[in-house]
Amino acid sequence: MYNIFMISSKSIKYNNGQLTASETFPDAVIDAFAKQSAKSAPAKNTQESANTIIPLERSKTLIVEALSQFDLELGQKAQEILNDPARLNLKTVEPGQSRMMRSRAAGLTQEDVDKSGMATPASHINPDFPRDDNPEAFAIIDYEYDQTISGTIYLAHELGHAIADDYQNEAGFSYRDNPTHMNETQAYLTQHIAYDYLRNHSDTEISNAADIEYQKEMTNYFGEYPLSLSALDAVQQAQAGATIIPNEIFQSRFGNDWKNVIAQDENASGIYEAMSALQIAPDAEGQEQALSTLQNEAGRLHGRSTSILVASGIVSNLDTQSDGLKKQATDAVLGRYGPQDINNALARIGFETPEALEKFAEQTVTQAVFPQMTTVPTQDGIKAEANDIT
Ligand SMILES: [Zn+2]
Repeated sequence: MYNIFMISSKSIKYNNGQLTASETFPDAVIDAFAKQSAKSAPAKNTQESANTIIPLERSKTLIVEALSQFDLELGQKAQEILNDPARLNLKTVEPGQSRMMRSRAAGLTQEDVDKSGMATPASHINPDFPRDDNPEAFAIIDYEYDQTISGTIYLAHELGHAIADDYQNEAGFSYRDNPTHMNETQAYLTQHIAYDYLRNHSDTEISNAADIEYQKEMTNYFGEYPLSLSALDAVQQAQAGATIIPNEIFQSRFGNDWKNVIAQDENASGIYEAMSALQIAPDAEGQEQALSTLQNEAGRLHGRSTSILVASGIVSNLDTQSDGLKKQATDAVLGRYGPQDINNALARIGFETPEALEKFAEQTVTQAVFPQMTTVPTQDGIKAEANDIT
């Protein structure tokens, strides 16, 4: 699920209440996602996963096929890593029992692990995966494979972290040079190449199982946008010295259903409480704590939801493009040209101006979220239509 050298979006800094855009996702992309989420908030997708069993060797073959059809060299790299026992430290477990999914970068030091807050507590060390650091000159994937479609998808994800580390090392850099916002984007890119292949697979058991996971993931991550935006509204209002009315903010972001959202979602109720505390906290410390909670939530706009959407957008936007352009995309995102910001990587494949980035984001949501989205009414009581968004 994660690269062990990962810094959470909590490290995002604010400048006069504005998220700083440097080293993060382009404003035009975030703004377009925000605009679309305001049109209609997706209802939480609670579909049951399919119980398709995929033996390990089949899973590896599917991943290699997926990456090869997008970028032949990427597929070759996948083939190498997945079949090298020194690099794939994998244990097969029962469906739903996977507790270990990570990639350890080449040369990862214990000091960096400790600094990242990802060190395994002594009481929780798993004898199958005893070390957090990695003295080897190549990335190692630690993985409990649960034989499901989602186990396959997340193996493609961890593989993305390992490939990115290889590409960066080959270009003369290390994990320390990788911009933090690129870590998850890289892994989501290979994950989404795998999704795209599996969802279109001729074996309908595979394609249906992959489609369910995809729909759940995309609607639920996109569904995190309104809460982060509510938090950002409150931060900006507080910094402008305005009076914060939590009910109004929630209603403007979630529509008339906002009270249900708070009742059903622990994160949402925590944010609502933090907004209220900004006004009524008896001391400066309480207010600061509330502000920090809101800033952390707003910082998630540049975190997982955006990295997963952008990665899915790279795949869907390049669907009908040439093999050469697809390769440019994987090379740039996965670090073959050395450390790149997502802005550089997107510019390389033709998404550079604010207009082009906005279009990229709109197309992303149309492809990833709206075709299968069950919508809840917006504040106007109007249900969004998939073809509302062009
Ligand atoms: Zn990850």
